[in-house]
Amino acid sequence: MSRTDADVAIQGAGMVGLALAAALARSGLRVMLLDNGRLPHWQVEHYGRRVCAVNLASERLLRALGVWEALQRISPFRAIRVWDPLGGGHIAFDAADLGEPHLGHIIENELIRSVLQQSISALSGVQMRMPACIQELEPGDEAVTLRLTDGSRLTVALVVGADGARSAIRGLLGIPARCASYAQKAIVAAIRTALPHDEIARQWFLPGGPLAFLPLANGRCSIVWSLPIAQAQARLALDEVAFCKALTHGSAGRLGDVLEVGERSAFPLQRLHAARYCTERAALVGDAAHVIHPLAGQGVNLGFQDAAVLAKVVIDAKRRGRDIGGRLALRRYERARRGENLLMEWSMEGFHRLFTPGQPSLARLRSLGLGVTHRVGLAKRIFMRRAIGSGASILP
Ligand SMILES: Cc1cc2nc3c(=O)[nH]c(=O)nc-3n(C[C@H](O)[C@H](O)[C@H](O)COP(=O)(O)OP(=O)(O)OC[C@H]3O[C@@H](n4cnc5c(N)ncnc54)[C@H](O)[C@@H]3O)c2cc1C
Repeated sequence: MSRTDADVAIQGAGMVGLALAAALARSGLRVMLLDNGRLPHWQVEHYGRRVCAVNLASERLLRALGVWEALQRISPFRAIRVWDPLGGGHIAFDAADLGEPHLGHIIENELIRSVLQQSISALSGVQMRMPACIQELEPGDEAVTLRLTDGSRLTVALVVGADGARSAIRGLLGIPARCASYAQKAIVAAIRTALPHDEIARQWFLPGGPLAFLPLANGRCSIVWSLPIAQAQARLALDEVAFCKALTHGSAGRLGDVLEVGERSAFPLQRLHAARYCTERAALVGDAAHVIHPLAGQGVNLGFQDAAVLAKVVIDAKRRGRDIGGRLALRRYERARRGENLLMEWSMEGFHRLFTPGQPSLARLRSLGLGVTHRVGLAKRIFMRRAIGSGASILP
């Protein structure tokens, strides 16, 4: 009989926590997944407002987890077009330049959660506790003892915080995080345009902030419009006709008139980086460890790679008969992921500052940068490879 109630407890059944649970359980580890929310509830008749641009590295992970084929509504994008109307620059990325059929897919967050949850519910090694939340944790030599809000206690070899930007696990572990608000909100909604999107993701760096049109499988586009908070509130308050007009103007009519907009919602934007990704018998993944501006659609892609690397080091440790919650394994995870995530955070920060409103002196510089990157094939290919997350599959 084992001495612990599970090998790994994961708090947070978001996309990243579920992917980690699936990767571990498929290798025979006993996983307990806790979330204070509810089970995913994707509906075929309703297109979810929250979508993600999922890159090729994440696609490989979801394929390795056996869930890719179950994603029944996905929209590939085979090109990205970016305009800087203020500076006059433009850059185009095409999958064909890399010899790939596409650069990624736009997928509803809830659909990803749903297929991952269904896949793990078929595995015997996973227990899901919802709603549930860890209130206290006490690391020991051989296990960490958790006390849940319902008063129950359990012991595991490793606890993982996958509980998002406001991670309670990060707080319980006493891991500080560098955190700053962008003083912006991102408005998301689905829109119908007069012209077809042709499976191209488009973005405009407008004076208020970036506006993205992401192609959906039903011919519509999902928008992400980042704006200073007061402007975002004002746009949310516009009636549908006026909002569509603002979008047609912002997109310079490249998809013709914006004809319809669905329900809108807005999310405050921040950046965050935890000072450490692991302590004694504990690790952080996904938004619990790092949050970046959504302007390049990379947040969950980084989180999925965290999940893949952490799963790999834990499974390796288990196979070698080593402690899966030991420093050696967890440090390997942190070393492999922190640099990469910091690099992406700084790149997003650089982009954000370069395109921040009220810096006209930078307008020429950035349009020059876009123009040079567009023309210099090698620079463009390096940039694209990083964005689509190429590289070998990292699951064992
Ligand atoms: C507008 C916008 C657009 C974006 N677009 C993209 C994109 O195109 N591509 C991309 O890669 N990324 C994108 N992102 C980022 C992406 O959405 C996040 O990186 C991703 O959702 C993080 O997933 P996660 O599983 O780490 O955390 P979360 O999605 O935050 O999930 C955390 C889970 O933990 C649970 N939880 C929280 N607290 C507790 C607690 N105390 N106890 C128990 N459970 C708890 C929650 O219920 C939730 O289920 C975007 C973000 C925004 C805001």
